[in-house]
Amino acid sequence: MNRILIIEDEQAIAELEKDYLEMNGFDIDVCNDGLSGEEAALSGDYDLIILDLMLPEIDGYEVCRKIREEKDLPIIMVSAKKEDIDKIKGLGMGADDYMTKPFSPSELVARVKAHMTRYSRLVNAKKASNNDVLEIKDLRIDKTARRVFVGGVEKQFTTKEFDLLVFLAEHPDEVFRKQDLFREIWGMESVGDITTVTVHIKKIREKMEDDPSTPRYIETIWGVGYRFKVS
Ligand code: CA
Repeated sequence: MNRILIIEDEQAIAELEKDYLEMNGFDIDVCNDGLSGEEAALSGDYDLIILDLMLPEIDGYEVCRKIREEKDLPIIMVSAKKEDIDKIKGLGMGADDYMTKPFSPSELVARVKAHMTRYSRLVNAKKASNNDVLEIKDLRIDKTARRVFVGGVEKQFTTKEFDLLVFLAEHPDEVFRKQDLFREIWGMESVGDITTVTVHIKKIREKMEDDPSTPRYIETIWGVGYRFKVS
């Protein structure tokens, strides 16, 4: 997570940004006009883009729009004119951050780092939820095949029991209220109430826990709801 594309037609500014970011461990490519910048952004494997607004060929506004059609990486938009920044913010053009030139290089580095951190968390969370197999302690959940193994032994789960278990296991250490779990698994329009959740949790525990009264996996938070314990 350290590749940055700078799209900036003022060489001196581009060089300054490049130097500071390289000193901070980033890999930098520079494009000096909107057209080559757009091509590089779409074909390259960048983690963040610093995009000037006023550019030859295609302006930053258009470049931002094109990138956003295909990629969700962070874009920091820069402009010499504060009015332009205010205007593009108002248009909601999909940049993640805006900076008015001149800015201090350390301010740029700080913002780049903040956006990188947020973006890498997002990417990792996405990877985790795409993962088809969840393994926690002695539990193994195969999401694609919808099979659950406890200590290597397969246990039979109903559809809703399975969905509830997966939802909780994918949100470790988060506390959910019963009504939120009900809405999440059964849907708003479902007939039923939160005791349905209690009943399902009880059944899940009977299948997973050696001693359901002191659960290792799904913990009861009294007066609130449930939490999937990972530690
Ligand atoms: Ca410019």
